[in-house]
Amino acid sequence: MLGIMQDWPLTVNKVLEHANRINPTREIITRRVEGNISRTTYAELFTMSKQVSNALKDHGIGLGDRVATLGWNSERHMASWYGAMGIGAVLHTINPRLHPEQIAWIANHAEDKVLIFDKTFLPVVEAIKDHLETVKTFVIYADADTMPENSLGAVPFDIWIDGRSDECRWGDFPEDTACGLCYTSGTTGNPKGVLYSHRSNVLHTMITMQKDAIGMGANDVVLPVVPMFHANAWGLALSCPATGANMVMPGAQMDGASIYELLDTEKVTITAAVPTVWLMLLNHLQENNLKLPHLNKVIIGGSAVPEKILRAFEEDYEVDVVHAWGMTETSPLGTLGTLPPHMLDAPIEKRLEQKLKQGRPPFGVELKIVDDEGNDLPNDGETTGRLMVRGAAIAAGYFKGVGGNVLDPNGFFDTGDVAHLDEYGTMTITDRAKDVIKSGGEWISSIDIENIAVGHPKVANAAAIGIYHPKWDERPLLVVQPAQGENPTKEEVLAQLDGKIAKWWTPDDVVFVSEIPLGATGKINKLALREQFKDYKLPTA
Ligand code: AMP
Repeated sequence: MLGIMQDWPLTVNKVLEHANRINPTREIITRRVEGNISRTTYAELFTMSKQVSNALKDHGIGLGDRVATLGWNSERHMASWYGAMGIGAVLHTINPRLHPEQIAWIANHAEDKVLIFDKTFLPVVEAIKDHLETVKTFVIYADADTMPENSLGAVPFDIWIDGRSDECRWGDFPEDTACGLCYTSGTTGNPKGVLYSHRSNVLHTMITMQKDAIGMGANDVVLPVVPMFHANAWGLALSCPATGANMVMPGAQMDGASIYELLDTEKVTITAAVPTVWLMLLNHLQENNLKLPHLNKVIIGGSAVPEKILRAFEEDYEVDVVHAWGMTETSPLGTLGTLPPHMLDAPIEKRLEQKLKQGRPPFGVELKIVDDEGNDLPNDGETTGRLMVRGAAIAAGYFKGVGGNVLDPNGFFDTGDVAHLDEYGTMTITDRAKDVIKSGGEWISSIDIENIAVGHPKVANAAAIGIYHPKWDERPLLVVQPAQGENPTKEEVLAQLDGKIAKWWTPDDVVFVSEIPLGATGKINKLALREQFKDYKLPTA
């Protein structure tokens, strides 16, 4: 027997239609690449997006065609998303921090037909234009006055949509139609495309609106520092219009002073970014003796939250930290570290310890850990294994079948992370499977070592990698980037770890580098580090 309820396909155009109807005057506030601030209401965004749809249709774009963007967070970028997705085209966000050759490879693999980009990236696009096999139309986020000279025959975005009709039929297709495409900046091999559907994006939006997830409402002002090109700005480009929250878009300026200025002037209540951004903000706050009176919540993910960032927000600025874990393949939010009921009255040190963990899955996400043979492991908060995930917004494979079958017989996706789960479902990541340091057959958590090391005031960043050892197979080497103007010694760094990790986890050596290499999504590039230190001889070897 079937239920007798309405058929209401879960397509993302409904999100902006809702914002236009219910919260038309709520705003997107953008710092333009030129530096000035622009303000756009959801009603205006709705009109702009319809005009984008009509512009795309004029170029023959329709169901399933890929429209690429290389863009900072902005209202124009939002209009490109909704304009493309509304007519069933696939919006493909490309990460501009990738190597130009990789950008061209991705655009060709995706068979992008249109490329819309910020003028910051004009030199990159001009450099690769002869290698772009399928892009026929170039659009630059600019108006007639701010349009740069270019050799692409590009049109300014504002002129491209100006005067076009705001009438366009949206969403006339099944909810499992492809909607968004994002390549994971995998550290090995070519990047792989994750192809989101309308249904998965709408469900992810609903999942993340839960109180124990991001839990925002119409009265919130949300600043996504996390870029729309990195795992969909953690869904905020959808969940903000869905709730009617104001959005504050930082454009290209993500330094501490610029972010602080927006947090303060726009009275931002919720913000989200990777740890490196927060280090810059906290430095700025401390140097200038500033406070954060409006901010309630900061979502931190992408890599593990270092304790010093957690403590600074919670203890010095009274801002609630929500540690989040996810990946491009999980749309991206998979777990969030809001405090579970049994921890609410725990002593402060216990609550902070809980918040350093990656958190619990919201409704819609299931997790388990397994051993190398795929056998389930217990949720005892100690046993570590491969983290597997299943749910309404989790990838079932990659674009064009790259990588083959990625699901286990029960439909779980292997995240490549190594973690443990406790009896309440709290997940703690101890490593990436490929970054694990295996010493005498036992695993050492590089993340734990790194997080404690960066707690030292003289340390800016730290990475632990496994180095060949004749007796133990591998032993940890700690690579340290000193804080500006500081000269920490090996002894000082090792003393920081003393007593906080098992003795046998202590790195066999510490080396200092001027800069630890970061990948395109701000994570430590361990592949590059392992390459750099591949011939390193440990003093213990
Ligand atoms: P990406 O698809 O580029 O967002 O990368 C996803 C990967 O980032 C995950 O599989 C984790 O290895 C890592 N990651 C994301 N969030 C966290 C976190 N809170 N703690 C530790 N690692 C994380």
